[in-house]
Amino acid sequence: MLKSYKYRLYPSKKQIVKLEATLDTCRHLYNDALGNRKLQAEWAGKVVTFVNPKDISQECSMCGKIVKKNLNIKIHQCPYCGLGIED
Ligand SMILES: [Zn+2]
Repeated sequence: MLKSYKYRLYPSKKQIVKLEATLDTCRHLYNDALGNRKLQAEWAGKVVTFVNPKDISQECSMCGKIVKKNLNIKIHQCPYCGLGIED
């Protein structure tokens, strides 16, 4: 049986300022890394495209069929083609 817990934080104003600054820094780092990756791809003559994330983790890499599973399931076992993969 799996258990899950939900927590709600009530940060002070000082903590909110620090959290927002940290998230802002993370956002800048992520966007800079993404920009660098895109630039490197362009230099290599490749094109960067964005993928719709819907069902991307549930698509079988062998046959392309959607195999519905919860996020806590780390094993992909395709009933259509028989592919079995463990994360
Ligand atoms: Zn499959």
